[in-house]
Amino acid sequence: MIVDALGRRFRNLRVSLTAACNYACTYCVPNGKRLQAATHELDAEEMVRAVQLLMDAAGIDRLRITGGEPMLTPKFDTFLPAVMKLGLKDVSVTTNGQFVLRKLDTLLDSGLRRINVSLDTLDADRFRSIARSGDLATVLGGLEAVKDAGLKVKVNMVPMRTANADQILPMLDYCLERGFELRFIELMQMGHLKTSQAFQRDFIGMADILEAIGEHYEFSRTDAPYDSTAVRYEIPGAGTFGIIANESEPFCSACTRLRLSSNGHLYGCLSSAASHDMKPVLALPEHHALASLQSILMRALGDKQRNTFTGEVTVMKFIGG
Ligand code: SAM
Repeated sequence: MIVDALGRRFRNLRVSLTAACNYACTYCVPNGKRLQAATHELDAEEMVRAVQLLMDAAGIDRLRITGGEPMLTPKFDTFLPAVMKLGLKDVSVTTNGQFVLRKLDTLLDSGLRRINVSLDTLDADRFRSIARSGDLATVLGGLEAVKDAGLKVKVNMVPMRTANADQILPMLDYCLERGFELRFIELMQMGHLKTSQAFQRDFIGMADILEAIGEHYEFSRTDAPYDSTAVRYEIPGAGTFGIIANESEPFCSACTRLRLSSNGHLYGCLSSAASHDMKPVLALPEHHALASLQSILMRALGDKQRNTFTGEVTVMKFIGG
């Protein structure tokens, strides 16, 4: 097992199944162009082999299937059932929710237990101005369907000063009523936000999120796994919520995440543009592949920051948000 001086190792893998997305969220895509062609992407079989090799070489035991929009590619239908059979401790899918109803049978037949749905507002007009596509009612219908089917649901919301700050409480109420755990993700300086003024304008930190919630709810901080990205809070008798506080409370020193982009590159850190091509490894026989992965993984682990999230110009949908 490869471990660094801070005791960090790779345990959580995020796979970007495709960089293509049917949304063009303002914080992810600068020019509003969606469905951007993703070139030289791995096929489903190569991606499953990559996951298996990373389980064996790095000790990966948790997988998040993301993108782009993972449900947009036909690869999803073969990748999900295949990785569900690999013996991982935990598998989840992060989706914008537009195709959840259509994919419900695939999700349930695979044995998936939980899902993360990204939703930034309950207001239909604002929804369209943030996502620049999609349909709010479809996402809400998908959320009801996965709830009724018994999946555990987390909802991801990125609060932004000029776009949806007033949605913090309505979103929390909506999630608490349905037993969903809402995760507020602090806006990250990724992609165009690394260099644009929009980040300073729109960033809302953990303290302000907690202040808004504190006007209506009493809450206390509760346990989270040591390598969790989220700080978790409990509202007695009502439920829990979390904040992924990259800026306010960076968790780099306990970060166990590794990312595989849709074109086969490994990324050890969101705050580093360094990537390591895994494609040549996929063509090797098992023992050669594992040996060659060790040196790649050592370099990827070396890319991690000590404890500051600085962001990068890399776009989230390429490397798997
Ligand atoms: N299409 C899927 C979805 O919408 O969940 C998966 C990909 S998306 C890149 C994954 C998550 O990254 C979403 O919850 C999105 O809100 C978040 N995200 C993307 N760019 C971000 C940024 N600059 N700051 C914070 N969160 C971001």
